[in-house]
Amino acid sequence: MHIDDIRQRLTAQGAKPCHSERILRAWALAKSLESGPKLAQNVLPLPVRNDLPALAEALQGLAKISSAHQGDDGSERLLVALADGQTVESVLLPRDGLCVSTQVGCAVGCVFCMTGRDGLLRQLGSAEIVAQVVLARARRAVKKVVFMGMGEPAHNLDNVLEAIDFLGTAGGIGHKNLVFSTVGDRRVFERLPQGPVKPALALSLHTTDPELRARLLPKAQRIDPAELVELGERYARDTGYPIQYQWTLIEGINDNEAELDGIVRLLTGKYALMNMIPYNSNEGLDFKRPSWDRAAEIARSLHKRGILTKLRNSAGQDIDGGCGQLRARALGDAGA
Ligand code: SF4
Repeated sequence: MHIDDIRQRLTAQGAKPCHSERILRAWALAKSLESGPKLAQNVLPLPVRNDLPALAEALQGLAKISSAHQGDDGSERLLVALADGQTVESVLLPRDGLCVSTQVGCAVGCVFCMTGRDGLLRQLGSAEIVAQVVLARARRAVKKVVFMGMGEPAHNLDNVLEAIDFLGTAGGIGHKNLVFSTVGDRRVFERLPQGPVKPALALSLHTTDPELRARLLPKAQRIDPAELVELGERYARDTGYPIQYQWTLIEGINDNEAELDGIVRLLTGKYALMNMIPYNSNEGLDFKRPSWDRAAEIARSLHKRGILTKLRNSAGQDIDGGCGQLRARALGDAGA
């Protein structure tokens, strides 16, 4: 279901745009659809009012929590069941953040990622993306949404942008607190600047070596890392938000001095922040997490060379918190 389908359903029942927006706003804020002073005064056309319970049930059915796993770091990882039985993951992050999924599976096929193993199973509709925010809001406040869960948002661009526009308006989330995360795709740099709500941008770089990047991210659009950084820089200057570069730090793969020199070469003087995230080891995948000391040394050395760098753990590290691990484990438990 798309957000626009909900609007059309309401319009077909005689709702005016202001009625529809009020009902949609109540949904986005995880309130009763009948909340709001004017709705209580019976201003809605009768067919709309009569349909509200069925609409509420349909919206609740979009996404349900299948299991919830608390992390030691204040995060909570949710396995979310969709109406057709597929599952995705959402992660409640410390400080009112939420990480949402945009696809079931993913076609980029990053060789170090569980989600990438099975390819793309299906797209999420814009309403399913927003439904993850509504589910989370029923548990705690959500003031920031990052599109960094399962899937590549650039491969589901229409739905992700519809969700972003909705969350940045009816959903009450500040535009720079919506973070579109991508491995890089030229369509993103064409479409994002045109939207009414311009999200912040996170670019998963992982390496400055084009050939290694092609091996690590085999189905990502081929864009030279230097060009990717130039495209990102233009967007950062246009919007006034720095680009957040993501670097999954993998022992023996992209933690060497040549890579650090490459980062300094590409990012010096750029409006950017480098997030170094030590790899979250996956059973069955032959990649290793570097020691925290080595990761800290890398972050310090970049910082000294003028690159604003943060060392981060991926949220929910202690609960099989890597992208797609919870779903993979649940499918494994179910014998799938
Ligand atoms: Fe897709 Fe992200 Fe996994 Fe790469 S890391 S396969 S882009 S979900």
